[in-house]
Amino acid sequence: MSSSSLTIAGLAKRYGAFVALAPTGLEVPAGEFLTLLGPSGSGKTTLLSLIAGLATPDEGEVRIGGQDVTYRPPYERDIGMVFQNYALFPHMTIVENIAFPLKMRKVRDAEARKRAFEALDMVRLPHVAERFPRELSGGQQQRIALARCLVYRPSIILMDEPLGALDKKLREQMQLEIKRIHRELATTIVYVTHDQEEAMTMSDRICLMNAGQIEQLGAPSDLYFRPRTVFVADFLGESNLLPGRVTARDGETLGVTLTGGAGSGPAIASGALPAVGTDVTVMVRPQNIIVRAPVAGSGRLVGRLTDVMVTGSLTKLYLEATTPGLPQLVAAYPTRSLSDGHEIGQLLELDWQPSDAVAITAAPGH
Ligand code: ATP
Repeated sequence: MSSSSLTIAGLAKRYGAFVALAPTGLEVPAGEFLTLLGPSGSGKTTLLSLIAGLATPDEGEVRIGGQDVTYRPPYERDIGMVFQNYALFPHMTIVENIAFPLKMRKVRDAEARKRAFEALDMVRLPHVAERFPRELSGGQQQRIALARCLVYRPSIILMDEPLGALDKKLREQMQLEIKRIHRELATTIVYVTHDQEEAMTMSDRICLMNAGQIEQLGAPSDLYFRPRTVFVADFLGESNLLPGRVTARDGETLGVTLTGGAGSGPAIASGALPAVGTDVTVMVRPQNIIVRAPVAGSGRLVGRLTDVMVTGSLTKLYLEATTPGLPQLVAAYPTRSLSDGHEIGQLLELDWQPSDAVAITAAPGH
């Protein structure tokens, strides 16, 4: 299967006065798995529809494999699409469903059937070839929808919430399955989801969208551990977001005094280095927090334990800062036993490694 690069240049879409997609640029190298992630209404489907040719932009260009396809219809773009509703034809058998796109492309019957069986092997369902869609489970139907897309070997596959209708366990299985197929075929995939865990599991890079714009684009670990904005930090899982002000700067390392007066310990900047006196938000992920008995005079953040939650694999401690002006604090660690010895109401000092504290400077408009 060939795979193509995708270039988006200054692409924008408005509905009347409403900006669904502000002018946006994006380069997707051939073979990459890119996920468009963002809250409802952030413009993910709009961008995907413009790539697919299901909508026309007000300005800008879409290039696939270097060719300008901005105003070409979907069937002239060499793309495959998989959506949440599988839209299999109920009166056709599975193998007929999969062969259908090839028939539309005038591939002769024997060849189409052979390739349909290869696609069925790819999704590991060769034994259901002669069944009808209603005789398959939801997860199986979604695999068939994927096979029907793989069968004509598109150079880019677009997926819009393809696993949205499946339960959690099946969704996780299918995530692994799609990853495996991506590895085997090395085709370019643009995947839309609003599920941050799914995006983190599957993607080479995540394009996090907010209000019709790209908020941050990067590897999952970049967005998770080095968010550029509070929006990114907050969207990608739980975090401690502690307001404060830069009070010292030593090379790349910042000293931050948190609102209420506690010191943050050394922190690193997620973007350009902020000057002394700049307001920042220090982000620390719950699993990077180390709790211990308070040390008199340490000047570090102290919290009073308000809740202990054992969520199976993780134990979470919720704390209220003893200094004013800070939000609820959360620390997490792997559950080792059901009673971890902590008592509600006890005071704990919160510490972390300098490289685990990220100082985010609020960009204008955020
Ligand atoms: P979701 O996760 O809910 O699917 P999304 O990020 O995919 O959201 P889009 O479907 O791209 O969001 O929609 C972006 C914005 O554009 C939304 O506010 C939506 O209401 C608006 N929009 C989309 N299509 C149209 C249309 N045909 N007419 C008017 N507004 C539209």
